[in-house]
Amino acid sequence: MDPAIIVFGLGIGVLVGMTGMGGGSLMTPLLILIFGIQPTTAIGTDIFYSAVTKTVGGWRHFRMKTVNMELVKWLALGSVPAAVIGVAIVSALENQIGEDRLDSLVYAVLGGTLLMVGIITLARALILRNLVDERDRFDVERRHKVAAIVIGATTRQCVLEHDVTVRAKVPLLAKVMPFVGHAPIRARGTVGGSLANADPAAEIALAAVTLAATLVYREGDTVAECAAADFFIGPMMTALPAAGCLTAVRFPVWPEARIGVGFHEVNARRSDFAFASAAAQIALDDAGLCRRVALGVGGITPVPLRLDAVADALVGSRAEEAIIRDAVRAALSDIELLSDLHASADYRRRAAATLAVRAITDAYRAAEGAHAG
Ligand SMILES: Cc1cc2nc3c(=O)[nH]c(=O)nc-3n(C[C@H](O)[C@H](O)[C@H](O)COP(=O)(O)OP(=O)(O)OC[C@H]3O[C@@H](n4cnc5c(N)ncnc54)[C@H](O)[C@@H]3O)c2cc1C
Repeated sequence: MDPAIIVFGLGIGVLVGMTGMGGGSLMTPLLILIFGIQPTTAIGTDIFYSAVTKTVGGWRHFRMKTVNMELVKWLALGSVPAAVIGVAIVSALENQIGEDRLDSLVYAVLGGTLLMVGIITLARALILRNLVDERDRFDVERRHKVAAIVIGATTRQCVLEHDVTVRAKVPLLAKVMPFVGHAPIRARGTVGGSLANADPAAEIALAAVTLAATLVYREGDTVAECAAADFFIGPMMTALPAAGCLTAVRFPVWPEARIGVGFHEVNARRSDFAFASAAAQIALDDAGLCRRVALGVGGITPVPLRLDAVADALVGSRAEEAIIRDAVRAALSDIELLSDLHASADYRRRAAATLAVRAITDAYRAAEGAHAG
């Protein structure tokens, strides 16, 4: 075997890493055109080789939680049957038209595919890059050894909903996103707009309070910060100065490996603001005991509320239902709740207690199933 193939493999690896282009679209033509390998053998070798490298790479990304499983399902639905059909077509054609004519056909298909890949890559470099909106950019920052994800105020809600970094780093925020209105609302609504609007039932505000996020705002030349718990001061009211403009929200990233989240809400229709909601994020230690618990309730008081007493009661436990129920009931017993034409205070108290138990139970189960490391 020609040792130059190692050098080409290295070059293709670098190109794939830099451009995100499929290795097959580069490797197969090279095997055929430069190393003179028979087209069907080149295709088969490349498929087998990628099966190994992609399995290892895919598993690594799965562990890092950078895989969007929803997208995987939809992609698999189309491409798995198509791949099987493709292999069947090649072997049927080989029988029907013979190996030589099949090779010429493969050359033509490869040439066409390469041309298309070239055009798409060029278009991506020249045009599509500019379509990624500046306002939707956000960063993961590390400060004082505590990792945080910083989301620009103008980031659209739908961007957070689908982002794998948000899912991996701030799972509770990713969990609540699909409950914010409906898809067209999330395609237009922004993170800063939702926070500044300060609806008592807004899910992003609830996640911010539950996870102790920090809101960053600008007033003239001054940049200031405010803890989410202090930012919301009443229904549709915030501590933002009259001339202030929210610029970002910083969500802390929990360092633990075994993290689970849960969220439940009650509303008249799926896209409506909730009458009551509960969000929980739990981190477990190696023995399966709660190391860290965050629980928040929304829609039942003028502002989203973090129930630290419940979290304290659960740390060191296995989140048994009786403990959760007692702690949640005690925490809600002396809080004055909203009462309006949608739901009475009594209904909201009972609903919130049930939703909180469900959210914590879900979070605990999800953390139990989470991979350590
Ligand atoms: C039919 C419908 C259903 C909805 N359902 C839900 C739901 O179930 N859950 C939920 O959480 N939300 C829901 N929403 C709210 C929605 O998700 C948006 O958050 C909300 O409409 C605000 O939209 P926006 O981001 O475009 O902000 P805008 O409408 O542009 O702004 C809202 C307010 O915030 C101020 N503002 C905006 N950005 C900033 C900033 N950076 N700094 C300071 N002030 C700012 C504006 O001046 C304005 O007063 C719903 C909305 C609709 C219309």
